[in-house]
Amino acid sequence: MSSSEPSIFSKIVAREVPATIVAEDDRVIAFEDIAPKAPVHVLVVPKTEQYRDVTELAAGDPELLAHVVATARRIADERSGGQFRLVFNTGEAAGQTVFHVHAHVLAGDLHEGNLL
Ligand code: ADP
Repeated sequence: MSSSEPSIFSKIVAREVPATIVAEDDRVIAFEDIAPKAPVHVLVVPKTEQYRDVTELAAGDPELLAHVVATARRIADERSGGQFRLVFNTGEAAGQTVFHVHAHVLAGDLHEGNLL
């Protein structure tokens, strides 16, 4: 992020905004999406907000991207038998509203209406 105001997700990391946290370690935090689009809808977010989207994260820290994917897999193992959809909205026109990279982990009853 280029703005000086911390992102909403950084405020969740800092416990300044409440969230239902389902996983956390030194590099990532995962919490329930506030407006779920599927029975399982968890966001996996790198704690650093230096990457706006997945393309920046892939270029800047591929190992951290791999850790985001592994965290998504672990959540899906616990919640949906290891099957899930992983969505990274990239750019405003693609529906991205929070420019602090995050993975949507979607599982359960997925159908067209649940596409982000
Ligand atoms: P979109 O809003 O189109 O899904 P993004 O891909 O940028 O765009 O996703 C941002 C997501 O963050 C949304 O699914 C939204 O519901 C979620 N969200 C926003 N604020 C919070 C919050 N305080 N706690 C949990 N989830 C949040």
